[in-house]
Amino acid sequence: MKRNKNYDNLEQSYLFSTIAKKVNEYTTKNPDKKVIRLGIGDVTKPLCKAVIDAMHKAVDEMGIQETFRGYGPEQGYDFLRTAVQGYYKKHNVDLDLDEIFISDGAKSDLGNILDLFDKDNTVLVPDPVYPVYVDTNKMAGRVVNFINANGGNDFLPLPDRSVKADIIYVCSPNNPTGSAYNRVQLKEWVDYANSMQAIILFDSAYECFIESEDIPHSIYEIKNAKTCAIEFCSLSKTAGFTGTRCGYTVVPKELGKLNKMWLRRQTTKFNGVPYIVQRGAEAVFTEEGQSEIDVNLNYYKKNAKLISQTLKECGIWHVGGKHSPYIWLKCPNDMKSWEFFDYLLENAQIVGTPGAGFGKNGEGYFRLTSFGSYENTAEAMERIKKLFA
Ligand code: PLP
Repeated sequence: MKRNKNYDNLEQSYLFSTIAKKVNEYTTKNPDKKVIRLGIGDVTKPLCKAVIDAMHKAVDEMGIQETFRGYGPEQGYDFLRTAVQGYYKKHNVDLDLDEIFISDGAKSDLGNILDLFDKDNTVLVPDPVYPVYVDTNKMAGRVVNFINANGGNDFLPLPDRSVKADIIYVCSPNNPTGSAYNRVQLKEWVDYANSMQAIILFDSAYECFIESEDIPHSIYEIKNAKTCAIEFCSLSKTAGFTGTRCGYTVVPKELGKLNKMWLRRQTTKFNGVPYIVQRGAEAVFTEEGQSEIDVNLNYYKKNAKLISQTLKECGIWHVGGKHSPYIWLKCPNDMKSWEFFDYLLENAQIVGTPGAGFGKNGEGYFRLTSFGSYENTAEAMERIKKLFA
């Protein structure tokens, strides 16, 4: 047996364990202090009624001989793929059903898609970054090149045509920065990728937070994107499916063999998302489902706005907070990310995520999220005002 030695090249991530350790030490020493967590990267609102009703119904079907379902199609049931197709149509994107693949979430597919690509590909990833893009490529033995996202480009780097790339990761609205590409900017990436015959792996896990017509929900809203992009989407943040697990990946037929290769990969290595979950997911796309998830999304958006407004009042530079549940701020007084983490915990009992944990360009920055309760978010913002306004 020869194990995959590429795993030795992965950097250990101590980000969340270090945060937990520091918070634990602080609360043990200061049991009377109320710590507010604004670093949460998970949703907190429960599944909506339409989803729960659909799942209950599906559970009942599974207990009846006539309606019981065993293995389903690996690429998802037609009823859900049709619902996803209808959702894209709302954004003026026409997809065939066999271009839509139901998944158990974006993370798995972002990793699994690499099965389709030779080891010998040049990978381009923005820094700071959602760590999955980097680690999945390193596991496969690929070298990862970084493109700088920073304050100078509002954390929205644009392609440099002198740089060669085969596989390009674009995440918009972005985790961790919350910044989002407009149509003109995204078109630059599409044109660049087409000119290089490269592929963009477009992560649109946060598209449901978009609030303006200028920001595309799908990369396929951009002309010629179907010849250069695979899109990953998720119901995790859209509809609270982080624990329920369902998403979808679009592989356009314009990408030639990749569409059939992905089908082959999925039918070989994946056995589909549970029927009950797919019925729940289908309900997200109904009128009732859409208006119910909006209530939750608006709740998070209100928190994000409040955080952004407070930072503005305090003169703290930031991006995100609009089109995104994330707010990415420059640490005041030129503090380093971990220095600011300690300062905020000590002086305001607020927990966020140090930007340095997402890449070298994250140093000096800090991520707050809007997934907490409104009351806690508001209290945290009052504490921030006391320190910085
Ligand atoms: N992509 C990004 C940018 C994310 O931040 C996350 C989750 O936090 C995912 C993908 C994973 O989503 P899923 O829950 O669908 O696997």
